[in-house]
Amino acid sequence: MKIGFIGVGNMGWPMAANLVAGGFGVTAFDARPEQAARWAKETGRESTTDLAALGRSVDVVITMLPSGREVRDVLTRMDNGALVANLRKGAIVVDMSTADPVGTRELGKELAERGITLIDAPVSGGIRGARDASLAIMIGGDPAITAPIRPVLEKMGKRLFDVGVLGCGHAMKALNNFVAATNFAAATEAMRVGTAFGLDPAVMIDVINVSSGRNNSTEGIIKNEVLTGRFAFGFTLGLLVKDVSIAASLGEQIGVDNPYGRLTRERYTEARDTLGANADHSSAVQAWEKRR
Ligand code: NAD
Repeated sequence: MKIGFIGVGNMGWPMAANLVAGGFGVTAFDARPEQAARWAKETGRESTTDLAALGRSVDVVITMLPSGREVRDVLTRMDNGALVANLRKGAIVVDMSTADPVGTRELGKELAERGITLIDAPVSGGIRGARDASLAIMIGGDPAITAPIRPVLEKMGKRLFDVGVLGCGHAMKALNNFVAATNFAAATEAMRVGTAFGLDPAVMIDVINVSSGRNNSTEGIIKNEVLTGRFAFGFTLGLLVKDVSIAASLGEQIGVDNPYGRLTRERYTEARDTLGANADHSSAVQAWEKRR
């Protein structure tokens, strides 16, 4: 099975490298050709700037791009849609980015008309999970169709979940990140209120972490990044705003009331506009502290 891997950034680089280590033939493409070339040099594989040639030579395309917009661009718009135009019928595209599930379904329909199958398989576990191939992977698509791709995914992740039809992987991922983002916002709000009342924020976190309020943010991000003032978890505010916006608008689009989703989107958007899209998401507290 020959694989074209598109987007060798923070996550895509180690994921594609794990496919090479697992014995797959991988060719990398990135909007930054020098990045793809560096990846190829390090792994001993190839990179390309020719989407038509890539399309002709692979059975599977994996995308690991910032959002669904770039996925659609590289598949159907760049070089006049050369990639999709040159993929053979029966080819499979696996989008592992965190993308909008509604857009994913639309793209899936368009690709199906050309005989190409789209699967969504976003991941959780961060850069560390990408490096040590321990990602959780949420697969959207009919299991009969996704089955041949599982051996590929197993080289990048440890826990694979069939979560439903096309788009369900992307919906699952955005909703997970909404829960994580809301936990962080709630815990840091509790710390602001508690500190103003005379509590020690470090003691508060110790108490929460052995009590019912504990979660991934209190156990990891707040202790390691916020209380230390490091603010260097490695996931940007720009990406988190994208994720919580996907979750909030999903509720809106399908008519399910989601007030926490809307508030979470509003507060993280405000933090991103204050601190910049490249700021670490844990630094959002610095923007929220200024609120009265
Ligand atoms: P990144 O910005 O480091 O990497 C994205 C790569 O895509 C870059 O190399 C960029 O040059 C390339 N690119 C952008 N537009 C392109 C285009 N049109 N065509 C080809 N290449 C293009 O981002 P990342 O941190 O690797 O995240 C990738 C995806 O994974 C995002 O959807 C993100 O939300 C998700 N994700 C990230 C993490 C994390 O901890 N960083 C964890 C889970 C999921």
